[in-house]
Amino acid sequence: MSRNHWQNAAVEQVAFPPLTDSITVELVVIGGGFTGLNAARVAAQEGLRVCLIEANTIGHGGSGRNVGLVNAGLWLPPNQIKQTLGDARGERLINDLGTGPDRVFDLIKTYEIQCDAHRSGTLHLAHSSQAISDLCAREKQWQSRGAPVTLLDAQTTAHHVGSDMYHGALFDARAGVIQPLDYARGLARAATDEGVHIYEKTAAVRIKRDDIWHVTTSGGHVRASKLLIATNAYNNLTSATQVYETSIVSYFQCVSQKLSQRDFDAILPDHHGCWDTALIMSSFRKTRDNRLVFGAMGETNDTIGRHIHDGWAQRAIKRVFPNVKIELSQSWSGRIAMTKNKIPEIMRIGKDGYAVFGYSGRGIAPGTVLGEQFGKYTTTENDSDLCLKITDKYSEIFTNLQSRYYESGARVVHIINDR
Ligand SMILES: Cc1cc2nc3c(=O)[nH]c(=O)nc-3n(C[C@H](O)[C@H](O)[C@H](O)COP(=O)(O)OP(=O)(O)OC[C@H]3O[C@@H](n4cnc5c(N)ncnc54)[C@H](O)[C@@H]3O)c2cc1C
Repeated sequence: MSRNHWQNAAVEQVAFPPLTDSITVELVVIGGGFTGLNAARVAAQEGLRVCLIEANTIGHGGSGRNVGLVNAGLWLPPNQIKQTLGDARGERLINDLGTGPDRVFDLIKTYEIQCDAHRSGTLHLAHSSQAISDLCAREKQWQSRGAPVTLLDAQTTAHHVGSDMYHGALFDARAGVIQPLDYARGLARAATDEGVHIYEKTAAVRIKRDDIWHVTTSGGHVRASKLLIATNAYNNLTSATQVYETSIVSYFQCVSQKLSQRDFDAILPDHHGCWDTALIMSSFRKTRDNRLVFGAMGETNDTIGRHIHDGWAQRAIKRVFPNVKIELSQSWSGRIAMTKNKIPEIMRIGKDGYAVFGYSGRGIAPGTVLGEQFGKYTTTENDSDLCLKITDKYSEIFTNLQSRYYESGARVVHIINDR
């Protein structure tokens, strides 16, 4: 049970050769996810010679494994972002990421990306009556900024979900769902249309700077005046060139066997994407091939984790949809890079060299937006093109311990909590 359904069901097909010689470009991007691909696309549009190298295949990281919820803003409620970044910076970030889904759905339309996009909104589900007050605060904060975000009562929520298990939900009309790997592959196609040279199976193994950047890869060498590291939680650069370290939360998803048309129609009739307010949260959504994808925090790459989390998911899904026959067939997991303040970082790692990372679980629209802004910034070098301040250092201690703490917590909750 360890296969990624998005790979099995992808419609967008792309393939790029590995780099086997020495090349010179103006911008080299490391990492073929939403951030790197969109940065490369925009920089090429702005006139730069750009190459992107990906250690595996496009969408190997979070971009090809996630739930596909194209949400607005960050995980944190707007006021908390403002408290952390200050009024001006905070409002800029809230505004730019609040309109992030517009950017994603515009790109899908412009480049005709076949990613099963449904922009019918997402539902943040209240798993307890106490959670309503948090959703209510989020509703007020977004509504005061004119955003179409509404708190739904339990009955309306039950109608939208096809389950009466929830106490209410925050509906966000800006949001939607996509098949994330198809979106990443579509962005790769768009980037090549704009002139980007993409190389798969090409890992950066060494990065060095003299008067320019030198990236030594598994089979070649790139010389570039500018560098972007967009490897987020999948950063596998050797420790000598490791530029940042964050703690990691693992998140797994299981896909169901095909549902009967009747059952498929009874669940999420408007194709909303959902996640809940529980501390060890879970999520679910439908796919274009009549399946349900159900996920939660947890790592399923080892036998014990798989046993605990997959078993819990099978029971949890029965509780949410007791009247629907749902058999789970495969599961896969992915890594989420968490920063200390749950806000992404743009870090300078040397002259004209940057790393963008730390989406803390909300990276589809933010990765698209920050990628786009960074792509522009490479030609303008105008800080006001970026909604985040560039930092010179990011440090976090005990990241391994913190990551183990998250996973242990998820296992304990999934063993003892049968909700
Ligand atoms: C299971 C899961 C569910 C999620 N659900 C959602 C969601 O519903 N909504 C949402 O908004 N966000 C979600 N996220 C977060 C989101 O997927 C990520 O924030 C986003 O994909 C990050 O994109 P990225 O381009 O920065 O990095 P990634 O997509 O992770 O790409 C990094 C790439 O760098 C490559 N790489 C690493 N090292 C090297 C090297 N040395 N040389 C060359 N290439 C290298 C990797 O192979 C990888 O492909 C989820 C994440 C996970 C894991």
